[in-house]
Amino acid sequence: MNASLPLARPDLLRTLARIGDRWLAADDGRSFPVRNPASGDGLAEVPLMGAAETRRAIAAAETALAAWRQTTAKERAALLMRLQARLLAHQDDLARLITAESGKPLAEARGEVAYAASFFEWFAEEGKRAYGESIPSPTRDKRLITIRQPVGVVAAITPWNFPLAMIARKVAPALAAGCTTVVKPAEQTPLIAAIAVRLLHEAGVPRAALQLLPGQGGTVGAALTSDARINGVVFTGSTETAQIIARAMAANMAPGTPLIAETGGLNAMIVDSTALPEQAVRDIVASSFRSAGQRCSALRCLYVQEDIAPHVIAMIKGAMDELRVGDPWNLSTDVGPVIDDEARQGIDAYAEANAARVLHRVWAPRQGHFIAPLLMKVNGINDLDREVFGPVLHVATFRADQLERVITDINARG
Ligand code: NAP
Repeated sequence: MNASLPLARPDLLRTLARIGDRWLAADDGRSFPVRNPASGDGLAEVPLMGAAETRRAIAAAETALAAWRQTTAKERAALLMRLQARLLAHQDDLARLITAESGKPLAEARGEVAYAASFFEWFAEEGKRAYGESIPSPTRDKRLITIRQPVGVVAAITPWNFPLAMIARKVAPALAAGCTTVVKPAEQTPLIAAIAVRLLHEAGVPRAALQLLPGQGGTVGAALTSDARINGVVFTGSTETAQIIARAMAANMAPGTPLIAETGGLNAMIVDSTALPEQAVRDIVASSFRSAGQRCSALRCLYVQEDIAPHVIAMIKGAMDELRVGDPWNLSTDVGPVIDDEARQGIDAYAEANAARVLHRVWAPRQGHFIAPLLMKVNGINDLDREVFGPVLHVATFRADQLERVITDINARG
C-alpha cells in the first residue's frame, strides 16, 4: 500500500477481495498493481481473483439470498438511506481515492461521490414502490394479482470512468429489490470498490449479500457471466464487451436471464443559428472535455450551422485555451490524465492518423498519461468510425436546408 495516499481514514482501505464474511487474497497468491494515471506510479497491489474464487463468491451470495430476500421493502429502504449517509460522511476520502486511481480531478470526484450516494436514496424510495399488478379476472371466483420477487444473485460488472457511481447504480437497486450481488470492478479501479464495499458492510449490508472480486474481465467477468447460478447481470462498459457477455449468458444461463447493459456510443449536438453561442460553447466544452472526455455521455460530434460557425468555432478554441490540463489534485484543474498508457497511446495514434483534421489543440503535460484536448474538423458523424474515449471533439458544419439530413445521419449511428 502506497503511504502517500492522503486519506483521513487510511484504515478504511482494503487491498483484498471479499467473499462471504472474509477479506482474502487470491487462492494462488497472485496480485496485480493499481497505478496512478497522472504519474504511472504504483498505488497498491490487489488480489488477482480467478474462476474458482468466483464460483465460491457466487455460492456465498446464493446462501445469503435466502435471508436477504425475506426482509421487507421498508427494512431494505431504511438500510439504503443509511448507506447514502455513510458514503456522504466519507465523501472526502472516497473522492481522494477516485482521484488517486482514476485521475479524475478532485472537484469532479467529490461530485461523483454525491452522485453515487444519490442512487441509494433513489432506490430506497423506488424499492418501496415495487408494485405488482391486478389483472381483471375472467371468472367471478378468481382474483388475479402479480407480486414482484427478487431475481436472485446479480453480477455487477463496472468500468473505471465512474468507479464508484457505477457500483452504486448497480448495487443499490439490487439490494433494494432483495437481491444479493457479486461486484467485479474494472482492473484500473479496485481500491475505490473495496472501500465502498467496506463502508456498505459497516453500515449494515449483510456480509455475503455483497461480494467483491478484483481481477480480469476475461476470468472473473467470464466466470460470472457463464454461471447458471447468476440470475441477472448488470454491466457498464464497451459495446464489444456487452456483446461477449450477452453471448456467454445465452449459452450458459436460463433463457430470459436479464442483462442490463449500458454501453458506449457517438453523442452528437446540433447548434443552429438560433442558439445563444455563449451558452452553447460553455456546454460544448464541459461535455467534451470534462473527465478528459472519458464519459459515455461526452459530446463527440458537434454540428454548427454554417452562418454562425466561424464565430462559434473561434469561441470554442478560446474556451479550450482556458482549460487547465494537469494535476488532478489541483482544484483549479479542468482536465486530468486519461486512464492509462494504453488509452493515451490509442488516442495519440488516432490524432496522428487524423492530423490533417486538427483545428485546435491545447497544452498538456508531457509526463504521465495526459492528452491535449483536441478539436477536429469532420464532414459529419459518418467520418467517425467509433467512439474515441478521450478529450477529442469533432466539429462539422451544415446549411439550414441540410438539417433533416444531419438528423437522419445522427440517428443512423444509433
Ligand atoms: P470495458 O473494457 O468493456 O470494461 C468494462 C468492464 O467489463 C470491466 O470491469 C472489464 O474488466 C469487464 N470485462 C472485460 N471483458 C469481460 C468479459 N469477457 N466478460 C465480462 N466482463 C468483462 O469498458 P471500459 O473500457 O472499462 O469502459 C469504457 C466504456 O464504457 C466506453 O465505451 C463508455 O462509453 C462505456 N460507458 C458507458 C456508460 C453508460 O452509462 N452507458 C458509463 C460509463 C462508461 P477489465 O477491467 O478486467 O477489463
